[in-house]
Amino acid sequence: LAPGTPDIEIARATPMRPILSLAEERLGVPAHALIPYGHYKAKLSLDYLASLAERPKGKLILVTAISPTPAGEGKTTTSVGLGDAFNRLGLQTATCLREPSLGPCFGMKGGAAGGGRAQVVPMEDINLHFNGDFHAITAAHNLLAALVDNHLHWSNALDIDPHQIVWKRAIDINDRALRHITIGLGGAAHGVPREDGFDITVASEIMAILCLARDLEDLESRLGRIIIAYRRDGTPVTANDLEAAGAMAVLLKDALQPNLVQSLEHNLAFIHGGPFGNIAHGCSSVMATQAALALNDIVVTEAGFGADLGAEKFIDIKCRQSGLSPDAAVLVCTLRALRFHGGADKTTWDIPDPEAVRLGFDNLRRHVSNLQHFGLSPIVAINSFASDSREEIDLVASLCAGLGVQAVETSHWARGGAGAMALAEALNEQLNTTPAPHIRCLYPDMLPLADKIRTVATEFYGAADIALHPAAARQLQAFEDMGYGDLPVCIAKTQYSFSCDPNVRGAPDGHRLDVREARLSAGAGFVVAVCGDIMTMPGLPRQPAAMRMGLDEKGHVVGLT
Ligand code: ADP
Ligand code: MG
Repeated sequence: LAPGTPDIEIARATPMRPILSLAEERLGVPAHALIPYGHYKAKLSLDYLASLAERPKGKLILVTAISPTPAGEGKTTTSVGLGDAFNRLGLQTATCLREPSLGPCFGMKGGAAGGGRAQVVPMEDINLHFNGDFHAITAAHNLLAALVDNHLHWSNALDIDPHQIVWKRAIDINDRALRHITIGLGGAAHGVPREDGFDITVASEIMAILCLARDLEDLESRLGRIIIAYRRDGTPVTANDLEAAGAMAVLLKDALQPNLVQSLEHNLAFIHGGPFGNIAHGCSSVMATQAALALNDIVVTEAGFGADLGAEKFIDIKCRQSGLSPDAAVLVCTLRALRFHGGADKTTWDIPDPEAVRLGFDNLRRHVSNLQHFGLSPIVAINSFASDSREEIDLVASLCAGLGVQAVETSHWARGGAGAMALAEALNEQLNTTPAPHIRCLYPDMLPLADKIRTVATEFYGAADIALHPAAARQLQAFEDMGYGDLPVCIAKTQYSFSCDPNVRGAPDGHRLDVREARLSAGAGFVVAVCGDIMTMPGLPRQPAAMRMGLDEKGHVVGLT
């Protein structure tokens, strides 16, 4: 792999196999169960998914990470490379990944279809408009918003308080100018004037709902439970009150079907849904995971952000609601991130520095013990970069050994599945020689909401306590009074720190988790605790990735990373 070869060129240089024959040959999925979107992408029909319910299930491997740097530490690439490696071992394996959002593609981070030799393809299609799913979610979201304003316009029979409308609008583009807007200007014929705003589509509750729904019926009933506003007396108004759920389900019926694509090594990947990892649970869909488990020996799936957010929500929200349960976990780290936690910054994090790695190891140690708390025995994957030194890799391995944890170096980014064989073998050995883990959620359903937040903060983040702002305390009380006290909590905080201050790295102790606001996602089925500054509509950086993108003379996308 020539250093610096863009991901999109690597992807395009690898011929793909037609998806229909690949899915039939590899997974035994009959052609009539697949809805092709061109030659290399397909959706699985909902009827076929329903027919899989009684099949024995494969083993589920959760890929999570230490607290990342802003560059990302390689959960997606590791998931893809590990899937390819398991297939090389002769185990039928698929990966379940999230669909990328257009926001980061054109913003700072770039695409999210893996990288190097560990990618899913067709890369540009997966990164851009993938089978229309996010556009369908955007449309369903905005349909509901339009029905709310239409209801206000036509005399407001439900007595919605225009100051307490909580359903905003959505678009899948980073656009800070849309965070706070005024609508309904122009006089009586043009709607009721009020303040509004946009969230990015991945922050829409509908995205979380699509990813947690068991089937079409569950989707529609969750859509109906969405709270769009409150009356002056504080009682909630739902999408069902507006008779909106049926029409929204109509818009979402195709998006609910999981997407199948392939890795560069022609192994199958289910890519479906992509909720934010902060104000939502950050995992790909339950339906894709269930389908993949019914069709494979092993399923590798990625959770959002670091393990404090991603793995915690995977277990406390996705597994709690769906009955899924991971059989093993991989904790991805890079030396870059360890150096970062040990004091390096973006100008120095690519330079070997064993002392920084040793200091930064505190962050990894905390994530390991958190995963053990759930009943998992994680294997650490060191996602190696060209700039890493042998001394540092050996140091991480020996520090992990000191914790009784196995660490395996991987080079899937440079070498594809061949670079993740040692990791696949270690996991296979663990799956074959140890009893299935008994997974424990962090808290029981009936614990009061504030205590659930406190449990996550003290047991997972090393906090001494939570600092519950009066407004947040009132909201939590109101949600309990409304009958939502048994929902799990979804902590919205920075991914860069165990605290809610992104600049506090490593493994801070004794801090207070600042809970400013609580939001109810009644359809998705969780209560969001907003801690610190959380943006549900990102902005673009000074030099957005969009400025480097375009089409070549053949009409191929260039500049997508
Ligand atoms: P995550 O899913 O944790 O956010 P990704 O797997 O998407 O991380 O990786 C983040 C970025 O880093 C991607 O652009 C990917 O291509 C790149 N990357 C990952 N691993 C390596 C590596 N070992 N060497 C070079 N680049 C890498
Ligand atoms: Mg990722």
